[in-house]
Amino acid sequence: MNKLQYENTNNIPVFKCNLCGHCSGILEATSYTNIKNRGCCWYFPKYNLVDIKNIITIGKKNFIYVLLNMKNTVINKYNIEVKGTFDEEKYLEFIKGNPNSIEDNFDPKLFFKVCAFSRPDGCHLDFSLRPHPCNLYLCRTVVSCCGEVYKNYSRERKDYYAYCNYFDESIRQILTEKKVNLQSDPFKAIEIIEDFQMPPFGGGNFESIEFFPHNYGKKVG
Ligand code: SF4
Ligand code: SF4
Repeated sequence: MNKLQYENTNNIPVFKCNLCGHCSGILEATSYTNIKNRGCCWYFPKYNLVDIKNIITIGKKNFIYVLLNMKNTVINKYNIEVKGTFDEEKYLEFIKGNPNSIEDNFDPKLFFKVCAFSRPDGCHLDFSLRPHPCNLYLCRTVVSCCGEVYKNYSRERKDYYAYCNYFDESIRQILTEKKVNLQSDPFKAIEIIEDFQMPPFGGGNFESIEFFPHNYGKKVG
């Protein structure tokens, strides 16, 4: 039996699922990268202004400076993206041998991608240093195994996304008014983000969900 739990610490909600990292049989977790059990960490993390604000609030501003200095970071005006790796050569080879490999609308390109923070023993970052999509993403398999009881979690996820969008836009407006952004002057932008008064999300308090892993997506290859 597996378990899904919800926690919200320091305005950072997180779904904790103990199937994660033990899921190599799931279609979304298929990995032809050098990290075989990377789960669905094919995502290239993008830190929006609310993620940056939350990280500053917990006293980890230095981590934002580390992100800004990583060689695989793309600094956009209002977010910071950390590029992972994509083995295009292997992907093209795979597509040649498996021309009908797009299953369940799942793009096989993802089988060849891995996040820069993924390690053989899981994510290198504490959940408080990840952007919010990492902490609230669950694959279709887990969602379907949880069934009806997942709906509270799903609503919470949507509400947090709405909260992030609203305050991301609010911080963006202040930066625009002050004619500063993360590209033009990251230090000044970080100061402004730090000074921004953002009310906490609040959020619900949900019971954990126990589920049996069934209905795995078919693994390719
Ligand atoms: S969400 Fe699903 S695919 Fe992703 S790590 Fe968890 S169990 Fe694996
Ligand atoms: S930051 Fe961590 S949780 Fe997010 S995609 Fe990368 S390895 Fe996975």
